[in-house]
Amino acid sequence: MNRRTFVRNSAVLSGLSLVPSQRWLLSHFFPDAGTMTLLRNNVGIYTERGGTIGWMIEGDSVVIVDTQFPEQSQNLIAEVEKRGGKGIDLVINTHHHGDHSGGNIAYKGIADRVLAHSNSKKNQMASAKERGNEDTQLYPDSTFDTEWSDKVGTETVTLRYFGRGHTDGDAFIHFENANVVHMGDLLFNRRFPYIDMGAGASIRSWIDVLQKARKTFDKDTLFIFGHAGEGYPVTGNHDDLKAMQNYLRSVLKYVKKEMRKGRTMEEVAKATESIPGAPEWSGRGVERSISAAFEELGGE
Ligand SMILES: [Zn+2]
Repeated sequence: MNRRTFVRNSAVLSGLSLVPSQRWLLSHFFPDAGTMTLLRNNVGIYTERGGTIGWMIEGDSVVIVDTQFPEQSQNLIAEVEKRGGKGIDLVINTHHHGDHSGGNIAYKGIADRVLAHSNSKKNQMASAKERGNEDTQLYPDSTFDTEWSDKVGTETVTLRYFGRGHTDGDAFIHFENANVVHMGDLLFNRRFPYIDMGAGASIRSWIDVLQKARKTFDKDTLFIFGHAGEGYPVTGNHDDLKAMQNYLRSVLKYVKKEMRKGRTMEEVAKATESIPGAPEWSGRGVERSISAAFEELGGE
């Protein structure tokens, strides 16, 4: 699909052909499914269902980071169109998980490029094959290994890979002028993270990856997080990266101690509601951190 058909198709979705009063009625009875929040310059977030989406809309230049699911991406495409976007220059996946790349398919024929870390593409292909949903995937057509940078409009978009963390293919996406960094699921803000050992995750390396990020990005940087706990924001600063490091260190320390006592993974998981030293992390899924730490420490 070229840019002209993008405008035609999404005009139908967003009701652009309606007069303003009709449009108001439409939006009144069918409120927008998700929320567009502007952060800095032309960069913001879209939240609906799944990992936080980042966007840059600067006139005709549009970048989307992560895609949630097809329906959510359709809704976002309509929002982009309302704001004057006539096509998508670049779709980026922070990593391969379905709540971050499942909506890629909505950009088929619309996006000029789809970009991710090479391991993210590999993981996306492997899990689609495993789940038998290869036909609903749109895979990255471009990949990078350590660093990638390009200009989109007047903004410089830079991707960096610092090593294994939440998976083995998590990228930091830096909108340099706005100084906003989307770090995907490398940060679960005060919420128990998913640690995907099957896709190359490493808790130890994750701590180092966050350290590299703290060195690379300055104090003014605004970070976008994949997920947050109840009542916590999906954006933040260096202090949140430090707190996430502390959570991961606390998990390793706690599980190591419990392993020395001879306790099994099941026993520890059952008896643990929060990780000593990192009480702010809560919600469901503490056992995912515990089992990942058992696996990582058991293999040493
Ligand atoms: Zn994830």
